[in-house]
Amino acid sequence: MKVGIPKGLLYYKYHPFLNTFFTELGAEIITSEDTNKEILDEGVKYCVDEACLPIKIFHGHVSMLRDKCDVIVIPRIMQLRSREYICPKFCGLPEMVINSIPDIPLSITEPIYAASEKELYQWAQKAGRSITNNRTQIRNAFDKALGEQSKYKTGIKNEDYKINVALAGHPYNLYDDFINMNIVKKLNKLGVGVITEEFIDDNLINDKVKDLYKRPFWTFARNAYGFTLEASNEKMVNGIIYISSFACGIDSVIVELIKDKIGDFPFMILKVDEHTGEAGLETRVEAFVDMLERSC
Ligand code: SF4
Repeated sequence: MKVGIPKGLLYYKYHPFLNTFFTELGAEIITSEDTNKEILDEGVKYCVDEACLPIKIFHGHVSMLRDKCDVIVIPRIMQLRSREYICPKFCGLPEMVINSIPDIPLSITEPIYAASEKELYQWAQKAGRSITNNRTQIRNAFDKALGEQSKYKTGIKNEDYKINVALAGHPYNLYDDFINMNIVKKLNKLGVGVITEEFIDDNLINDKVKDLYKRPFWTFARNAYGFTLEASNEKMVNGIIYISSFACGIDSVIVELIKDKIGDFPFMILKVDEHTGEAGLETRVEAFVDMLERSC
């Protein structure tokens, strides 16, 4: 059985879990290529215009995989932390994809509640049944997948740079180099180091979030807000760059909340969509770095 795993959205965070789980069930894993222009064009062709860039790109990955596998995983990720949710576009992702792209193979679309191991195991039982009915094999595959995931760390923390920026945004915008046009390499080349939210203690993020008049409903919003406030308050960095997808409802709220709190701390929002040009992005990054250098 060939199981297709699209290399989009939270793949960058959770691929060890998915790959190990299905491999242990005896499946052959077929992953789409790194995002490229062809994948973007496929996504734009099939996805509704109103969607954000990462969702369009995910459609492109599915389209590229659909005739290469017997089953395709379209993760309907609902929850990663208790009392918080992921973006609504994740909740309806399977419906968007299945109704937009023709000839999709059998799809694994069970909702993923991953706030606790017990909830996640419920997903594993349902998803695993697409491959085998052997419950012991599913349990063992699940345990092994959790083990592999726990060994895998994401996050960027460059050392020994005179100027540093906090790079904020959703994981797919930070780790898909096609979406962000290799921003980390560009910044490093300009002599600027990068730190991402994974290197801030979760308790510190929680402390910052407590200042808000209302607990954030969205995990992405909580992380970005807590991280940028902690990094700027503690002067861990000289500035903040927020990579935001055009038409992202969560970003439209969270960047305003951040701006409101950080005052005149250097902050740049890079909005990306399928029309974003690399030259324009480079010019903005260079101008921001120039400003940071002058204020050092
Ligand atoms: S959080 Fe924003 S960028 Fe991410 S899928 Fe939702 S709308 Fe798109």
